[in-house]
Amino acid sequence: MGKGKSFFAVEAATGNSLPVEFAGATLDEVNEASALAWEAFPSFSETGLETRAAFLDRVALEIEAIGDDLIVRAMAETGLPRGRLEGERARTVGQLRLFAKEVRAGRFQELRFDAGDPTRKPVPKPELRLRNVALGPVAVFGASNFPLAFSVAGGDTASALAAGCPVIVKAHSAHPGTSELVGHAVQKAVSDSGLHPGTFAMLFDTGFEVGQALVADHRIKAVGFTGSRRGGMALVKIASERKQPIPVYAEMSSINPVILFPNALQQRGADIGKAFAGSLVLGAGQFCTNPGLLIAIDGPGLDAFKDAARAALAETPAQTMLTGGIFKAYCEAVQRLASHSSVAELARGQDGKEFQAATVLFETDASSFLAHPELQEEVFGAAGLIVKCSDERQVLEVLDNLEGQLTIALQVDEADHPAAQVIVPRLQQLAGRLLINGFGTGVEVSPAMVHGGPFPATSDGRSTSVGTLAIYRFLRPVSYQDFPDVLLPSALQNSGTGK
Ligand code: NAP
Repeated sequence: MGKGKSFFAVEAATGNSLPVEFAGATLDEVNEASALAWEAFPSFSETGLETRAAFLDRVALEIEAIGDDLIVRAMAETGLPRGRLEGERARTVGQLRLFAKEVRAGRFQELRFDAGDPTRKPVPKPELRLRNVALGPVAVFGASNFPLAFSVAGGDTASALAAGCPVIVKAHSAHPGTSELVGHAVQKAVSDSGLHPGTFAMLFDTGFEVGQALVADHRIKAVGFTGSRRGGMALVKIASERKQPIPVYAEMSSINPVILFPNALQQRGADIGKAFAGSLVLGAGQFCTNPGLLIAIDGPGLDAFKDAARAALAETPAQTMLTGGIFKAYCEAVQRLASHSSVAELARGQDGKEFQAATVLFETDASSFLAHPELQEEVFGAAGLIVKCSDERQVLEVLDNLEGQLTIALQVDEADHPAAQVIVPRLQQLAGRLLINGFGTGVEVSPAMVHGGPFPATSDGRSTSVGTLAIYRFLRPVSYQDFPDVLLPSALQNSGTGK
């Protein structure tokens, strides 16, 4: 607990304060946490693979050991239902165990050996050995919309620890109680594993001061973030203006276009419309991969899609949003679209109480979409926009004017394959994940997953924040030239390589 200003958690459904007071950190405490993480770095980054993997497994066990208190607290703080949070807890511990497995396998070290040749002419060839090393202490900003899987012990933390980087979490102010329970679990795993106490720390803040000081601290060497474009870019700016700039892996904003192809619409427009409605309202639309934009050629197939989506959405009850701020931002964005001269409202779900958002589906035409860049700003919540195109050429024009995305989905039948073949090469320039006959919601945590994409989906489109590749964000390669065996790190010594 910090020595700074105190605050209470807020119940998402009512806006009332929840019991138990929390205290923000002071700048002295940011300094202390960074100093401890820096002190922990040399030993933690060189822990044997088995020790580090066992530590990650232990974190997973400690989170499970919290039991139902974790779910009950997270339900109150986020308004998310039990089933969703239980699933998210399973994903969180599964992801920690996946990284433990990855560490044991050791592939991320990328060990490479180039034999030397002293007799090579005209110049001798040096012997080179390479491995990846950990970057240093990492600052992680927990996300509001995944209080477990993208928060204190979520994907950023798990991948940074797996890489050998100590972690300091700036807890999200929307779920401090949930964060504290998980933070204690990680701290217990650190101490039970005999690791340096600076391996993990967590700080609360009542404003932006703590997070900003953390990113500016010279001992922090990388940042993981999920949240708004404004927040992410504020941190990117601080990180790039440091004496030693550092990478910020910020996942920020994406509207996840869905392209509805003519034959698919003709054959099963109504089915796709119903499935889309189900995906749009999932988790009150508070997913980074929520399908916020539909692109289609106008015609009877699209009409069938719209009718089915309209009918399904009309039945949808309003849902509690994560925070009062997010609820307000959603209502304002929906109002902006509703009063936009080029946008028509197509469907609306049921209204609810305060903090509960109704789903809304809008439509516009391609020319208006192209003339009004503000129409592709992310609306965080269950709101969608259909862009009607007159022909394939207009579909391509819309695609060429889109910003970077996390996902793009294609609804296609076999007869659409030739048209899809034209588009796919363009789409891979736009998004980190392309999918066929599905929607982007539901992100599998696995080795071949990419949850990233060109700006503004993320601040660094070369990376992913989900899946085992996420570990590479926190590593850098070092080459050892003509080193005697005794001076090499053990993984690169002759005995380590079986030579
Ligand atoms: P946020 O406002 O960006 O906050 C995320 C984290 O960054 C919080 O810990 C916040 O601190 C901190 N922060 C924000 N601005 C900062 C700044 N200028 N300097 C230092 N720290 C800063 O995001 P959010 O609270 O999760 O949700 C707000 C909006 O973010 C949503 O309406 C939505 O538009 C977007 N969002 C997008 C995604 C996505 O994946 N695309 C996911 C979640 C949210 P506090 O805890 O003190 O606020």
